[in-house]
Amino acid sequence: MFTPLHNLVADFISLLFPEDCLACHELLARGETIICTQCRVSLPYTNSHLLTGSKSELLNRFYNKVPVKHAFAFLTFTRSGRVQQLLHALKYKGHEEVGEILGNWYGAELKEHYYQEQFDLIIPVPLHRLKLRKRGYNQSDSFAKGLSQALNIPWQPNVLERLADSSTQTKKTRLERWQNVGQLFTVHQPNVIFDKRILLVDDVMTTGATLEACALVLLEAGAAGVSVAAIAAA
Ligand SMILES: [Zn+2]
Repeated sequence: MFTPLHNLVADFISLLFPEDCLACHELLARGETIICTQCRVSLPYTNSHLLTGSKSELLNRFYNKVPVKHAFAFLTFTRSGRVQQLLHALKYKGHEEVGEILGNWYGAELKEHYYQEQFDLIIPVPLHRLKLRKRGYNQSDSFAKGLSQALNIPWQPNVLERLADSSTQTKKTRLERWQNVGQLFTVHQPNVIFDKRILLVDDVMTTGATLEACALVLLEAGAAGVSVAAIAAA
């Protein structure tokens, strides 16, 4: 609970250290945190959770590769724009809270369409342990945490493990990359995911190859089904 004194102190601190919106870099107004109201109303939302079957372009990315039930992305990624700024803050500037707030917002929207009844467990795409140590957190974990809070579905960050760092893959051929991605992940605790409907989450979805590789190992390990959600789709 915030008392009037707390509010006074918060106002005083924001006077001394005014904070910028992490999407547009304008100063935040009182009562705004992390992302300003103007950005919140005008972010490029995909509304992909409203499309099902062959109407879903995101779901089509997995067609004939892995049987994914739903494929969502909250935002559309553009190279220069608010979404790029938000993801940059999340991944490279230590702003873990960006993932959580976007997860909260998207989770609330999914809940309006009763998606909380479709999943039993939320699992983030893992970082390789060396990258995790370097960054200090997994940006997909924070999105998973935000979704978990809003949907009231548990999340489990330690079920999947990334065995190699895929960023070393750029010099390989397409086939080598594909073979590599196939051996990139392993399931640690199959009992945790057995017979569960999993919502697998990542930061950015491009071709969907990473999500595909994770979904395959989860299904092989006994998950009842896999759906995928990303903060943004490129
Ligand atoms: Zn803004």
